[in-house]
Amino acid sequence: MKETYDLLVVGAGPAGLMAAKTAAEHGLKVALIERKENIAEIRRACSMMVVSLSGRYLGERVTLNPRNQRICFPHYGFSVAYQGPHKNFYTWQICSHKGNKIQVGGYEENLRKGDAGRASAIYSKEALLGGLLEESISLNVDVFHPYNVLGAIKEGREVKVVTREGKTFRGTFVIAADGRSSRLARSLGLNQERKFFGTAMTMGYEMVGAEIPEEFSLFQIFLNEDPLMRAWITPRTSDNEHFVMVTSINHKADYEGAFERFTKQGIFSPWFKRAEKKRRLSAVGNMFSHIIKPYKDQVVFVGDTIWCQEAEMTGAVISGWKAANAVALAIQEGKISEEGVADYLTWWKEVVLKEYDYQDMLRNVVLPYILTPEELDYLLSLFKKPLPSVFDPYETPKVVGKAMAEVMPIIARERPVIMEKLKKMGNVPLEKVFGGCIRAGFPSMNTV
Ligand SMILES: Cc1cc2nc3c(=O)[nH]c(=O)nc-3n(C[C@H](O)[C@H](O)[C@H](O)COP(=O)(O)OP(=O)(O)OC[C@H]3O[C@@H](n4cnc5c(N)ncnc54)[C@H](O)[C@@H]3O)c2cc1C
Repeated sequence: MKETYDLLVVGAGPAGLMAAKTAAEHGLKVALIERKENIAEIRRACSMMVVSLSGRYLGERVTLNPRNQRICFPHYGFSVAYQGPHKNFYTWQICSHKGNKIQVGGYEENLRKGDAGRASAIYSKEALLGGLLEESISLNVDVFHPYNVLGAIKEGREVKVVTREGKTFRGTFVIAADGRSSRLARSLGLNQERKFFGTAMTMGYEMVGAEIPEEFSLFQIFLNEDPLMRAWITPRTSDNEHFVMVTSINHKADYEGAFERFTKQGIFSPWFKRAEKKRRLSAVGNMFSHIIKPYKDQVVFVGDTIWCQEAEMTGAVISGWKAANAVALAIQEGKISEEGVADYLTWWKEVVLKEYDYQDMLRNVVLPYILTPEELDYLLSLFKKPLPSVFDPYETPKVVGKAMAEVMPIIARERPVIMEKLKKMGNVPLEKVFGGCIRAGFPSMNTV
């Protein structure tokens, strides 16, 4: 006899695991299908910063409870087990290749305040996934891995999920949590309505022994590379360990070369004199606009499958939780339809689409690419004092934007060419900015 689940969850990242655990708490019969051999192992580049312990993302200000080993979401009203370590960091330093910088949050002052002064904290994604998996199993979620899902097809009142290995699963609902390059979103045609802007790539190493001044900081450094690239440095939770990565939105970028030049030449190289590479991690992700309606044929989409760029761990967990609650209610009420999961779809529309314009996010991504490293160095030289301490992917750019507005008259006077480029960024449609940058391989980088 064919076995039918109430819910099939595809993908065991933070969104899928949270969805599986939440649905099982409601008593649903759940199968979780994942293509990785070891679910908790992290093989993709990730800085592992909690968003948001300061600021408010999706209306939420996350709290950490190390005593009872939980990460709490007070606005939404749930918490998740987290038995891993964490490490505070106190400032976000945005630097030019010559060391001029905007600093979000004063380091010494915030460090003195301890938890109250932290910008945020680094966590262990392995520990988070491991804890959620353990809870899911203890709630009788059936976990199937490694299975690579090829697609979902609605058959009568059920949805059938098929895998490359030839296994078939049947469920009343499916939650698609298969990440940024979601096969389910593609195969059900949900990407057709989205705008595609290009592909961002990341390559980096976990390193031990780097000697980073103000080491409990997030560093974002614009490199003297053509095409322009950024380096990011974040602490890891273990002592003496950092994750150092280089990123670009240009397929012609030289990742290994830029990493070597950053760590072996120039003003930041002394930090890495005694550092050793431990593990290489990379990530590739398409940049689309948000999905407008994260639902089709009893398949509900969550986490990175629907976001522009990334949901972050916070958005992944919240969306997984919201979607699983909606599915549980739909089954309880016998509404096996879009109407049944309306609570989730309304949240997506009202809280995410209305409040978080993907164009703002993408403008922040692309802004540095319209300036040369020398122009960026000049721009960053204008900021003399640390900015208010807010670490949040949407709130921090607003703080930086406000400080930028204050130095605009100086830029207009001293460097009118930069001023023109910045002004055009606000007016030119994003497709044009990205179109010139990425698809043409931005020959000069000055594309607007
Ligand atoms: C370079 C980089 C740095 C980042 N730094 C941070 C950070 O500091 N803080 C933060 O909060 N977020 C960060 N993020 C974002 C964060 O990683 C994601 O937003 C988050 O992991 C999304 O969770 P998810 O569950 O939606 O998707 P994912 O974590 O991508 O999980 C998707 C799961 O689905 C599985 N899967 C995929 N396809 C299939 C298939 N066909 N069949 C079966 N299984 C499949 C995958 O193996 C994976 O386990 C970063 C991302 C990148 C790229």
